[in-house]
Amino acid sequence: MAGWVVVALDVIAFFAFSIALVLVLRERFENSNPYSGVIKLLFALAVLVYVFVAFSNILEHAGITAVLDEYEDYVEILFVPLIAYAVYTMHTARLYNDARRAAELLNAEHGLLTAIIDTSPTGIMLVTSAGTLAFANDMARETLRLQSGPGESLQMPDDLTCLSTQDSSVRPLSLEGLARGVTLFGSTCIVETGGKKVALSVSSSPLGTDAAPGAPQGSVVAFVDVTEREEARQGLLDAQARYSLDLERTVDERTVELLAVNRELGTVNRAKREFVANVSHELKTPLSAVRGFAELLLSGAPGPINAEQAKQLQIVADSSQELLALVERLLELERVESGHAVVTPSHVELDQVVEGVVDLIEPLARERGVKVVVESVGSVVAETDAGLLGQIVRNLVSNAVKFTPSNGSVTVKVLEVGEYRRISVADTGVGIATADQERIFEPFAQVADSAATRGGTGLGLAICRELAHALGGSVWLKSVPGEGSTFTLEIPARFSAG
Ligand code: ADP
Repeated sequence: MAGWVVVALDVIAFFAFSIALVLVLRERFENSNPYSGVIKLLFALAVLVYVFVAFSNILEHAGITAVLDEYEDYVEILFVPLIAYAVYTMHTARLYNDARRAAELLNAEHGLLTAIIDTSPTGIMLVTSAGTLAFANDMARETLRLQSGPGESLQMPDDLTCLSTQDSSVRPLSLEGLARGVTLFGSTCIVETGGKKVALSVSSSPLGTDAAPGAPQGSVVAFVDVTEREEARQGLLDAQARYSLDLERTVDERTVELLAVNRELGTVNRAKREFVANVSHELKTPLSAVRGFAELLLSGAPGPINAEQAKQLQIVADSSQELLALVERLLELERVESGHAVVTPSHVELDQVVEGVVDLIEPLARERGVKVVVESVGSVVAETDAGLLGQIVRNLVSNAVKFTPSNGSVTVKVLEVGEYRRISVADTGVGIATADQERIFEPFAQVADSAATRGGTGLGLAICRELAHALGGSVWLKSVPGEGSTFTLEIPARFSAG
């Protein structure tokens, strides 16, 4: 190759490396990275090696001087370590950058978390296993008036007292307890600090999961101020207590009033019964005399009477008979009501009592065209008063016949129900409206539109109920108006006084 061509190539190489050197020197590396200056210097030195070699070649090949040629080899040896060192430094710089970015990210997240925790309406604290407060957010500091002690460590105020807790075995805000690691869920605790009482709902859970079993592990504590809720609850409890007290007082007052009224009523009732009994007794003798004389005159023994007189006398005799019946029943009711019905228990065959009653009423039933049937499971016996029992059954069967139109029927059943005996009297009669079903057991109660009530006293069922009570039993009624009624008497199989 011609000498000038070689020189020309050397010049080109020299300028090319010089430009590369300028470019390297002008390169703006990240100045936040402490390695960027070293990298720039290493690259600049590596390119400078070739600038020097190209310059030495120009001088040599142009025949000017070969003085630099002997240094060329030493300089060239430097190139590879310089580049290797630059590459290694670049790698270190990249690692440094990654670490720095991660730290920045961590810082940003930490800042965000701190901001969230600090603005939270929940008080949050961290108690270490040594029993010191490692962290408390703004709400915790404000609520518990936490103070920074020497060396900026947080301290519980000296006057903080836990007045009461739901769970007496745990004091939710005792640092000693929390240092051990406590699990709490919404434990209400009233604390007082700075003369102010605050109700807190405290939750906490142990911190260290890798602590040895039984060793202190510290706790993370969260609490919410529930003072308003607790005050409202307390208010409600107070109001409830006041209300109960008022209610109790009112009930006591009313009971006293009722007892007084009851006493008065008892006196009035006794007076009424005595009055009825006395009046009835007083009426019985003159009424018997009226009836007796009317019948005597009717018999014609004292002298003849005309037809009109006989008619009038018959009315007198019938009316006095009716009045006598009423007086008899009044006296009977008074006797039962005042507890004077004497129960004489004996071995009673219930079906025989029923048969006896039916035989007695049969003529009236035949006259009214009503069929009376007795259904019995066989021999049913009871230790009871046969006379009183017969009186009740007689009343019920005669009512059934009286309030059943002709061609109707009355069925009397005798049943054993465990320790009880039942006699039911069912008719296909007029029935009783629901509104009247309880009322007809009251003395003198009759159903207004029942034509057949005429002639009755309205005392029969009242007597039945009282007699049933006297036998230790009860009478009840089921009835559908227009379809019929069923009266049921239930008495214990064995009468026991008291
Ligand atoms: P009374 O002497 O009037 O029959 P009760 O006390 O025996 O008195 O009956 C009261 C009223 O109950 C009767 O007047 C009648 O209106 C009604 N009553 C009683 N038994 C029956 C029945 N089996 N069917 C329909 N009504 C009845």
